[in-house]
Amino acid sequence: MFKQGKEFKAFESKVWLSSPTMHGPEIEYVKEAYETNWMSTVGQNINEVERIACEKTGCHYAVALSAGTAALHMAVKLAGVQPGEKVFCSDMTFDATVNPVVYEGGIPVFIDTEYATWNMDPVALEQAFRLYPEVKTVVVAHLYGTPGKVDEIKEVCDRHGATIIEDAAESFGATYKGIQTGTFGTYNCISFNGNKIITGSSGGMLLTDDKEAAEKVRKWSTQARENAPWYQHEELGYNYRMSNVIAGVVRGQLPYLEEHIAQKKAIYMRYKEAFKRAGLPVEMNPYDEKNSEPNFWLSCLLIKPEGMCRQMRGEQEALYLPEHGKSCPTEILETLASYNAEGRPIWKPMHMQPIYRMNSFVTREGNGRAKTNAYLAVGAVGKDGRALDVGMDLFQRGLCLPSDNKMTAGEQDRVIEIVKGCFE
Ligand SMILES: *Cc1c(COP(=O)(O)O)cnc(C)c1O
Repeated sequence: MFKQGKEFKAFESKVWLSSPTMHGPEIEYVKEAYETNWMSTVGQNINEVERIACEKTGCHYAVALSAGTAALHMAVKLAGVQPGEKVFCSDMTFDATVNPVVYEGGIPVFIDTEYATWNMDPVALEQAFRLYPEVKTVVVAHLYGTPGKVDEIKEVCDRHGATIIEDAAESFGATYKGIQTGTFGTYNCISFNGNKIITGSSGGMLLTDDKEAAEKVRKWSTQARENAPWYQHEELGYNYRMSNVIAGVVRGQLPYLEEHIAQKKAIYMRYKEAFKRAGLPVEMNPYDEKNSEPNFWLSCLLIKPEGMCRQMRGEQEALYLPEHGKSCPTEILETLASYNAEGRPIWKPMHMQPIYRMNSFVTREGNGRAKTNAYLAVGAVGKDGRALDVGMDLFQRGLCLPSDNKMTAGEQDRVIEIVKGCFE
C-alpha cells in the first residue's frame, strides 16, 4: 500500500473523524423525561440545558432549538435581513452558516479567509464594506473550533454599524481573550449535532444578551402562538424548539465538555509534535496562541506548497500524481480510508460551491469573483499551479485528520505512520 511497500494492518474498528461520545448520565435524563411523561418541547431538561449554557458561556439568554441551523435562521430573522439584502458571510465554513441568509431571501457575499486562524479575514471584510457600504449584517464562523480574529472583525463591524451573527456551532467551549465564543455577536448559535464537541444527537441553541430577542425566538420557534385561548397568530411561526428528550442527552453531555476539549487538544498536540519530529512538509491548523484557546474539535493538516504532489479536483472527483517525498490531501485521505480511518477534505469554500457561483466574493484585493470563475472554468489551480485566493489554497492543500476523542494513543500513532508513509 505504501509507496515503499511498507504494510500496516487496517484498523479493526473504524477510526472516526469525530463521533458521539456518551457517558451514562444522558440515558438517565432521557429516562426521566420518559418516566415523567415530559415527551414534548417542554420540560426540565430544556430548562436545565438553557441554564447551563448561559452559565458556561456567560451569555444572558439561551433558547434551545432543534438544530444549530434553526438557531442561525432565527438569528438572521432577528437581524432583520430583508429579501434582496446583501449579508457578509464567512467563506470557509459549512454551508449551514450561510443557507439561513438565503431562507430569508438575503444574498450572501463571501469574505475570503486569513492564514492565521483559517477564519474570516478582517482586511477582506473592510474591503467588502468599501464595495458594499450598505451591508448591515455579518455572519462569522469559527472554523474547526478555532476562534477567528474577533477583535479586528468586531472593530470593522462596529465602525460600519453592522450586526454580528456569530456561528459558534463548531467552537462551543473555545475562548478568545478568556471569553467564550458564542457571546461576541448580537445573536449567536451553537450546535449539538452528532459530530460536534458535545451532542444531543441533534439540537442547537441561540445565545444572546438581548432579552427581547430571546423572547421572540421562544415564540417564533413554537409556531408563534399569541396569548389567547385558541391558536391565534400574528406572526410567521416555526417548529424549531428542542425536544425535552434531546435536551436530556445534551444535559447529560454538558458536564463533559471540558473533558472532550482536553482529549481533542491532546490529539492535536500529539499530531503536531509527531509531524514536526518527522520533519514532514506540513503544519497543523493554526490558532492565535496568545489570545485564543480553541476547543480543538478537528485536527487538520496543511501541506506546504513544496510538499504537494499534483492534484486535480473536478466537481465530484479528484485525481493526483504520486510523487516521492510529496503527497496531497487526496492521497492521504484515500490511504487513510484504505486502513479504515476517516478523514475529510477541508470544507470546500462557499465561493467555490456551484449553488453560490453567482454570489460576490471579496478578497484582500477586492472583487475575487473574476479570478475564481476563471479557475472554475478550467477546473485547475492558476497557471503557475498556485491557488487564487486563501480559501481555495487551504482547500487545495488541507485535510481533516481522524479527530475522534475515543481514539487511543496507539491508534493515533498508526494514523501518524500512515501519513508519514504518504510522504515517502
Ligand atoms: C454543524 C454546523 C452548523 C449547523 O448545526 P446543526 O446543528 O447541524 O444544524 C452550522 N454551522 C457550522 C459551522 C457547523 O459546523
